Amino acid sequence: MTPIPILLYHSVAPEATPAYARWCVDPELFARHVEVVRTLGFTPLTISALVDATAAGELPERPMAITFDDGRADFTEHALPVIEAAALPTTLYVVTGRIGATSSWLPMAGEDDAAMMSWDGVRAADAAGVEIGSHSTTHVELDVIGAARLPAEIDESRRRLTAELGHDVRSMSYPHGYHSATVVRAVRAAGFDSACAVGDTWSSADDDRFALRRKFVFGGTTPHALRELLLSPPDRPARPRRVLRTGWRCARWARHRMPNRQGAR
Ligand SMILES: [Zn+2]
Repeated sequence: MTPIPILLYHSVAPEATPAYARWCVDPELFARHVEVVRTLGFTPLTISALVDATAAGELPERPMAITFDDGRADFTEHALPVIEAAALPTTLYVVTGRIGATSSWLPMAGEDDAAMMSWDGVRAADAAGVEIGSHSTTHVELDVIGAARLPAEIDESRRRLTAELGHDVRSMSYPHGYHSATVVRAVRAAGFDSACAVGDTWSSADDDRFALRRKFVFGGTTPHALRELLLSPPDRPARPRRVLRTGWRCARWARHRMPNRQGAR
């Protein structure tokens, strides 16, 4: 099965706090990443275009996708100009309850006061052709909050995006990549027709369209490293053993219920 790289970016900015620097790609480096993608002959698609082409059996040569999670304000200032200049199909997943506010879920990375995009910024990205998707309402770990809270995080986020943009939105990405069968059912029921997880590996045409695997891009991913990565896709790792996944989820579930927890999970 042809590997399909789906790259996951978080921040494009000239500077970041030391704890967050690994997630932050310099704007010039991002422009060089785009050059590498083009030079190698990849065909970037939005996530919805990718799942549509996959379903139709009409994937282009060397399909790939570029995604952004969170919706930080630096997307408007530093990523969007590069995307527009390159006419680059891109998908941006925003935390709808944090639009116009701060990344208050990242206190451990010293990023609890980083500015998030405004609704004007989200609409500008949408108008520029960027596919906008949901990254939940508050960036909570969806698989541990209980089914009763899922509509507020999933359905409400979709409704808000649809109202603000004036058109349907189709795709979601799970905060931290965390999802479960219950979460996937809720995402489908809300009307989304695809969702991105993480996995830190390549996707493929047989990937679950509600758990598309993505590969992190870091501030230290040089153009050469990206080129090597795209030309030599990693072997697909075995899925984490269920017992390990379940154990880690139990630990997060317990942490979620501890009093006085930091952050806005
Ligand atoms: Zn996120």
